[in-house]
Amino acid sequence: MLKEIYIAAHHGFCMGVKRAITIAEETAREAKGRVTILNEIVHNEAVVERFKQQGVGQAFAVDEVDEGTLIISAHGVAPDIKEHARQKGLRVVDATCPLVERIYEIIEKIVKSGYYIVHFGDPNHDETHGIVGHAPDNITVVATEEEMLSLPDWKDRKLGLTVQTTAHTNQVAQVEELARKKWPHIEIFNTVCNATTQRQSAIMDIAPKVDMILVVGSQSSANSNRLARIADAICGRGILIGSAKDIQEEWFSGEFELQRVGVSAGASTPEFLVEEVIKRLVDISGGQAKVIHAEKKKRHRTVV
Ligand code: SF4
Repeated sequence: MLKEIYIAAHHGFCMGVKRAITIAEETAREAKGRVTILNEIVHNEAVVERFKQQGVGQAFAVDEVDEGTLIISAHGVAPDIKEHARQKGLRVVDATCPLVERIYEIIEKIVKSGYYIVHFGDPNHDETHGIVGHAPDNITVVATEEEMLSLPDWKDRKLGLTVQTTAHTNQVAQVEELARKKWPHIEIFNTVCNATTQRQSAIMDIAPKVDMILVVGSQSSANSNRLARIADAICGRGILIGSAKDIQEEWFSGEFELQRVGVSAGASTPEFLVEEVIKRLVDISGGQAKVIHAEKKKRHRTVV
């Protein structure tokens, strides 16, 4: 029977997501005429659906929008996309996370000084598209260590390494080490954001104490997927669930009979979904399971 439910000390909405949602809500309230969000405001179906119900439009290209206000999502976009929107006469409201903008600033600054960028990240993610758009002729995106190792020696080229804000912190450490070996002159910018570091550390803290971790988040959320994979590697069962409806009662009886479960959530997951998951778990235990909120630990990290 389910006896203990551990809640990760850091989970759910990060600063950038809260900020983007607030900007979008204020814009939807105050703007005259149509309001459209370009791409998903954050990668969570419940949040995206709520905006749709409020009458806010959704587009995946500027050409789909002919009038009104266009909101740029937390993941950001390339500068030419914003420019195209302005040229079409759209009012542009930018909800890009400041920590994504920080990568734009780093890239623009060092490219001006003659650097070429190696960026470690998912080439298909909205954040990567925006980053590439800030230095289209001076950047190569690599998704794996193998891809990085296959790049030229670039002995005479000034090089900088940046990484996706939501990358796996342990993998980033390996990538940095490999990059230094391959290009001893490379300048490293650890651009993983603090919210990612905190959520990954928090899941590593509870994983050894539990039989399974449920990560609440959408399939489209890179950081939620990564949290589930980290949990899986440590406790053997890291499962990404969209909501409480995805919990299967048989996990806690019969063949499996898991007794201790951890709960975390990606940076784009609203807290009400996490609360519903905890409530359902407590209900499955017949009200017997103890809910344990893991303590926040102080961690020191240098932000470049
Ligand atoms: S995960 Fe990090 S970079 Fe992304 S929106 Fe949140 S704070 Fe910003």
